[in-house]
Amino acid sequence: MLKVSGYAAKHSFTRLKPYAFEREEAGANEVQIEVLYCGVCHSDVHQAKNEWSNTVYPCVPGHEVVGRVVASGSGVTRHAVGDLVGVGCMIESCRTCAPCRHGEENYCEGPNSWLATYNGPMIPASQAPEGGNMYGADNTFGGYSDTLVVNQDFVLKIPAGLAPEVAAPILCAGVTTYSPLKHWGVKAGDKVGIIGMGGLGHMAAKLAKAMGAEVTVFTSTSEKIEEAARLGVRGVIEDDKTVLKELANTFDFMLSTIPEKHDLNPFIPLLKRDKTIAVVGALEPLAAINNQQVAFHRKSVAGSLIGSIADTQEVLDFCAAHNIGPDIEIIPIQDINDAFKKIEKGDVRFRYVIDMASLKNDE
Ligand SMILES: [Zn+2]
Ligand SMILES: [Zn+2]
Repeated sequence: MLKVSGYAAKHSFTRLKPYAFEREEAGANEVQIEVLYCGVCHSDVHQAKNEWSNTVYPCVPGHEVVGRVVASGSGVTRHAVGDLVGVGCMIESCRTCAPCRHGEENYCEGPNSWLATYNGPMIPASQAPEGGNMYGADNTFGGYSDTLVVNQDFVLKIPAGLAPEVAAPILCAGVTTYSPLKHWGVKAGDKVGIIGMGGLGHMAAKLAKAMGAEVTVFTSTSEKIEEAARLGVRGVIEDDKTVLKELANTFDFMLSTIPEKHDLNPFIPLLKRDKTIAVVGALEPLAAINNQQVAFHRKSVAGSLIGSIADTQEVLDFCAAHNIGPDIEIIPIQDINDAFKKIEKGDVRFRYVIDMASLKNDE
């Protein structure tokens, strides 16, 4: 067994604290990764506090992990010791269902769905059809730790030219926004609306712009309008009725990145006929949709969940090729509870990334 240091929440109401645990050594098809950086995702806050009512404790969050391969099993061919690699939201899937066979592991229909990097599997045994657990684990521990052991097929290559700390948030925030932009066919010249300008929103704006789209960001604060201008995209205050009227029937695609319950109705009229608004930030019931707005111009309201392993590699390579990445602020892990508080307040535009070397400060 490998001795691992990390940070965990022991209960929904406690702060994250140092936590020592063990991981199995790398099996034949697995690599052992020394974690260098881990991004802090809004879902880490939700999960640590059991806000989705599915958290198994102790909870070691972290699914935007970048590190170096330090050991590998005898069957590993895709990665070598010394490689800079990444691990996103998933570390395994059933591999046999239709979505898995089509390379869409993030929509795995296996009895436990995909195995989450932390707090996995997605469908716990208690909710699985036969009560079974195909992964043999009730809980997984994520990247707020110094070591991860992952099957080679779920390990991404960090391209040269992408700084490891910048690559980390691309593994969740990046692919979560890239995947729907790609799926709904966003192309050069399209008008794309991004709702919300937090960790997901600012990444979505950068990606859509790099795809050649004309991007408008909808936000609630004037500071974020300035941020939008800095990114070279238009910023609009989301309840400015005059502007919303002007923008009616003009968007080819819209993406809502707001990480909690919100109202899509003001935005649906902005879509062109037959176009889609997709939600990626919220996993709870939204305000009721006025279907008159949807039906009148045959519009669609859709959702999208993270992205496949192939999409994740693609967005890493896309960011390297276009020289873009999330805006980040590096923090020591000792600051994680303060970072959670700021994320909850919603006034963080950049992504916090934990420098995992700071774990040694606790020794
Ligand atoms: Zn995430
Ligand atoms: Zn599957």
